[in-house]
Amino acid sequence: RAKDRGRNNYQVYDSTMHTTSYQSFFLEQDLRKALIHKEFMVYFQPRVDSSTGEIIGAEALIRWNHPELGLVPPSDFISVAEETGMIIPIGQWVKKTVCEQLVKWRKSGIPLVPISINISAQRFLQRDFSSHFRKLLEEYGLDGSLFEIEITENSLMRNEEYVKETIAELKELGAKIYIDDFGTGYSSFAYLKTFKLDGIKIDQSFIRNISHESDNESITAAMIQMAQLLHMDVVAEGVETEVELTILRELQCQHVQGFYFSKPVPTEEFVRMLKNGICQPANT
Ligand code: C2E
Ligand code: MG
Ligand code: MG
Ligand code: MG
Repeated sequence: RAKDRGRNNYQVYDSTMHTTSYQSFFLEQDLRKALIHKEFMVYFQPRVDSSTGEIIGAEALIRWNHPELGLVPPSDFISVAEETGMIIPIGQWVKKTVCEQLVKWRKSGIPLVPISINISAQRFLQRDFSSHFRKLLEEYGLDGSLFEIEITENSLMRNEEYVKETIAELKELGAKIYIDDFGTGYSSFAYLKTFKLDGIKIDQSFIRNISHESDNESITAAMIQMAQLLHMDVVAEGVETEVELTILRELQCQHVQGFYFSKPVPTEEFVRMLKNGICQPANT
């Protein structure tokens, strides 16, 4: 069936992960249909205060509920979406969906926390990004401070003046700007000097094995200290175990996110967490 979809579009079975990967399987038309048929969903993963367990934010993460394949992770379709330009309407859908949820939660009196949204470089570098965001906030009557924008270093490598301006405009609206997957790209210190960023999210590859690999711990410690010295927030991503959390606490990393507290969850489950306010370690 996979080969009906054209040359070089084969379904790949990844035996190491015991899952099927559809990375180069989907086509533009599949994504277009998924949007029309409302097959995408937004999941939320809480971001937690490492010392209190208090929920201080959440990341919106897209999922594709495929009618035949089940839940497809973004790693299997975001790259196709980027190559085909479908990332623009898909990203727009994510932003609108998050706005709709925030409005709904506010109406129900649920305590709100800022929601972070991943923005592809392609979208971020389009001229109308911040004006579009402003219009969206106006349309939904939401304050920009309810949003955090996660960009990767790819978004910082071109058009310095435009990027500076865009960041300033977004901050004026109240949104915070984070660098995602920090430490995996070029991680030039110049970016931290050039752009007024609010925080970094330390990539999960540094947190993984932090308890066994002293290099990972040293690098993480250095990133946390650097962020503190620059008055930036720092979030450790991919915290899976109590040991990792303990180390991060000792390193004074205030904000953490990871399976130890919660996997990304559907809206209803996230609302239950928000009502609680505190995130208990998940039984993973
Ligand atoms: P990301 O922005 O770095 O998101 C964090 C990823 O790490 C998420 O994967 C999350 O489920 C996963 N994760 C969180 N905690 C843990 C942990 O403790 N252990 C492990 N092993 N993984 C953890 P997910 O949801 O599969 O998303 C993958 C990537 O897809 C995201 O990486 C982001 O780059 C992209 N993505 C997701 N949603 C969107 C979206 O709406 N727009 C755009 N442009 N990209 C998105
Ligand atoms: Mg992210
Ligand atoms: Mg990340
Ligand atoms: Mg990422």
